[in-house]
Amino acid sequence: MNRKTIFSLLLLLLFICPEVLANSFERERNAMVRSQIRARGIRDQATLEAMRAVPRHLYVPAAQIRFAYQDRPLPIGYGQTISQPYIVAYMTEIIRPRPDHKILEIGTGSGYQAAILAEIADQVYTIEIIGALGKQARRKLEAQYDNVHVKIADGYYGWEEQAPFDAIVVTAAAEYIPPPLVEQLKPGGRMIIPVGSPFQMQHLMLVEKKEDGGITTRSLMPVRFVPFERAD
Ligand code: SAH
Repeated sequence: MNRKTIFSLLLLLLFICPEVLANSFERERNAMVRSQIRARGIRDQATLEAMRAVPRHLYVPAAQIRFAYQDRPLPIGYGQTISQPYIVAYMTEIIRPRPDHKILEIGTGSGYQAAILAEIADQVYTIEIIGALGKQARRKLEAQYDNVHVKIADGYYGWEEQAPFDAIVVTAAAEYIPPPLVEQLKPGGRMIIPVGSPFQMQHLMLVEKKEDGGITTRSLMPVRFVPFERAD
């Protein structure tokens, strides 16, 4: 082979590689939805489609990319984690997201849950308390979506200017349900939130605001989330 042929072959390889990689990630993603999510009972079509569409590997640190589709949470730096895929799907399905919904998320982290919600809902507002994580997630999300808004703040107070919300997803475990979040939920709206102490058993709670403003809460399953932090 002469130099020119070798050069052309190398160039070809450079073009083919990302394509091959993307296909292999797509295969892993489809397998993830089949074996971790559908197999465990998630049936909402919009949720399943969003889980198949969002490239989870783009929301994890480089060192974690090869584990991106595994059945577990992964570290994303600053002591935080991206939730296990099944938990993301479960929390998405349970709030019954619709295309005309305005949704609030507390705990942007990697931005992955926000991306899933953005695939389904009209507008997603997400709050992260760690500046560096919030900025990184904002960069990734803005490159893909024009319906996600990231704020760096203590999510305890919600996002008053944008309230009320059709649904609220909290992805850090609080000792109790923050009253401002309950207030910012629309009548008929749903909130999903892990409640419990960092070193004790936590429970995923579903909070529903009835049309008359009454609140019901239901404990769904034991979980382990990173703690809900408070700004000093
Ligand atoms: N939804 C995220 C999960 C990240 S873990 C994802 O898909 O990757 C939970 C996140 O909540 C962490 O990034 C943590 O910094 C953040 N967090 C904790 N307390 C918070 C608070 N009071 N307000 C906003 N974010 C908070």
